[in-house]
Amino acid sequence: MKKILQELNEEQRDAATTIDGPILILAGAGSGKTKTITTRLAYLISIGIDPASILTLTFTNKAAKEMRERALALIDNAIYPPLLCTFHKFGLLFLKFHISRLGRDSNFVIIDTDDKKRILKSFKPDLPLALIASEISKYKNSLISPSEAIASARLPNFKKIANLYQQYEEYLLENNLVDFDDLLALTYKILDTNEDLREETSKKYNYIMIDEFQDTNELQNLLIKQLCSTHSNICVVGDDDQSIYGWRGANVKNILEFPNTYENVKIVKLEKNYRSTKKILEAANNLIAHNRTRLGKKLEATKTEGEPIVVLENSDEQEEAHKIGEKIIQLISQGVRPSEIAVLFRINALSRSIEEAFNRLGINFKLVGAIRFYERAEVKDILSYLRVIANQNDDFSLKRIINKPKRGIGKATYEKLEKAAKDKDISVLKFLWEIEESELLGVVGKKNAKALLQFIENLKYLQNVAQDSLYNFIDEFEKTVELKKYYASLPDGFERIANIDEFYGMFRDYIKQNPENSLDDFINELSLQSDQDQIGGEGVAIMSVHASKGLEFEHLFVIGLEEGFFPLTGDGCDIEEERRLGYVAITRAKKELTLSYVKSRFYKGRRTHLEKSRFLGEAGLLQSSIKIEKKAAFKKGDLVKHKIFGIGRVIGVSKAGKEFKLTINFGGQQRDILSSFVERV
Ligand code: ATP
Ligand code: MG
Repeated sequence: MKKILQELNEEQRDAATTIDGPILILAGAGSGKTKTITTRLAYLISIGIDPASILTLTFTNKAAKEMRERALALIDNAIYPPLLCTFHKFGLLFLKFHISRLGRDSNFVIIDTDDKKRILKSFKPDLPLALIASEISKYKNSLISPSEAIASARLPNFKKIANLYQQYEEYLLENNLVDFDDLLALTYKILDTNEDLREETSKKYNYIMIDEFQDTNELQNLLIKQLCSTHSNICVVGDDDQSIYGWRGANVKNILEFPNTYENVKIVKLEKNYRSTKKILEAANNLIAHNRTRLGKKLEATKTEGEPIVVLENSDEQEEAHKIGEKIIQLISQGVRPSEIAVLFRINALSRSIEEAFNRLGINFKLVGAIRFYERAEVKDILSYLRVIANQNDDFSLKRIINKPKRGIGKATYEKLEKAAKDKDISVLKFLWEIEESELLGVVGKKNAKALLQFIENLKYLQNVAQDSLYNFIDEFEKTVELKKYYASLPDGFERIANIDEFYGMFRDYIKQNPENSLDDFINELSLQSDQDQIGGEGVAIMSVHASKGLEFEHLFVIGLEEGFFPLTGDGCDIEEERRLGYVAITRAKKELTLSYVKSRFYKGRRTHLEKSRFLGEAGLLQSSIKIEKKAAFKKGDLVKHKIFGIGRVIGVSKAGKEFKLTINFGGQQRDILSSFVERV
């Protein structure tokens, strides 16, 4: 047997060595799904399949990076690496080569959610920006064009939104911008309307693998189908119990219907958990068993019983943060690496008390998510400069920096420039880039003209430096633009300068590691960074449950287990999705798990009394709640019905946590099923 397969169990090995045809690996948390596809990738390469013909997609850059490292570590000969990236990165690469099919230029710039909202704001809408932004996102993900949206909108607000959508699309086109949704939607559109390219692309990627398939949305699913249009060598892995992006349009249906979408799907089940202790796994299984809409999979521990799960009661958030901080200090003093410890929360607002306590106690931590580094104003300023240098159509970025540092260019002047550029039918930036001094004088007057010419001259100089070599670029940038000097004069300058320095450091690092890449590549790479990307290094990770997907930690703390916080309750909340989030949270823990709640929390300006989360009881962690439900009282000989397996007869009953494990005979096939998954018939 090949060495790389030795670490896998039989089922995992079966999946990893099945080369042709569609495969679905449907299995619970920590059962080695990611390990299996990583090994499969290495296996395919080890038997001589061209790495360039393998495409592996996942949801975060961090996951992609880890998978790549794991796979490459399994391969002896150094060969060029296979493409293993996020869906969005794939879209970006595709568009870089093929956006010309839509008549667009390949030097487009990617904008983030914050940029998107600022563009929408400039249309002065009378509806909340977040609402408009998310509706536009829905349109794009449903492949509805602005004109179709306008034609189908009935209610006045939706008519408004559809019109804003049109205006927004026009703006993106004019400035050659692409938003996150476009990365996938435009890719789809191009593949859909160009049969030759669809065939070529599908043939190019003859082996496709997808991790965390339960979180794909309809558009991603359609895209995958196009990539598989000439073959059906697709291997998807996922867990219906970990579908946590329903609010963003993810559709569990994709995984449930996979066996009907492709022909002759091989279904592989992994039923052993290699990550968590028995106690942790039992709590997770108990909790998720309360969901009705699930397939119900088996997942058994391979590890020992382990330490009891700690349920931590606190009077308020300060006590909670302090106790957790002290506990972490103790762990570290015992030799635990900080990167093996994490604190999770359901909503970002809860991270503050933890951050404060950790700062006070001198604990190194990494806050993942919250406000992303590159969404800070000063970092966006630098980024806008870089974009303007790389792309002379990007008026959106120009507007942000044309008067930063201050050079006396006010709103009125900008409007004059806009008008003059419009008359020539070019972008403001291009207008400035190409204009003669004498002509500019006529548009904005002497003082402003001088300032603008100096500004453009600086940009042109930096563009030259960038084209020449990016090694000196960032030093020349600061010398020319003097952003640090500008921020030093502002009240909170100190922190901002620290952020600028961090950015400059990051830039230098990037160039060192990717000497071949251009400024454009750097900008695009940065725009694709996601919440999880900042993990790593030696700090304790503090992050949302969403950001923790796919990760694992020896010691895990989940805070805020209170009704209203975890689960979130109220309008628009889905208790089953909350429970899946609870399941994801608990199953991140390998060895030690602490679940904490407070009796009162300061939130949105006032102190509120809180009840502890129902999830604690459902996970079987509260003494009073360990009672066996009536419906669970099954006995030998009962006839029962299971969603998937149909009708069977109970032939054995034993206790499993707070319910029963039933051994059932389904037409000759014997299976162990938890009692909450069957009904008596
Ligand atoms: P999740 O659902 O959380 O994404 P997963 O199913 O992808 O989990 P992995 O992250 O691949 O699970 O594996 C969980 C842990 O179990 C990892 O530490 C992995 O190295 C280990 N593991 C997986 N399979 C085996 C095996 N056959 N023998 C020993 N350890 C294993
Ligand atoms: Mg995984």
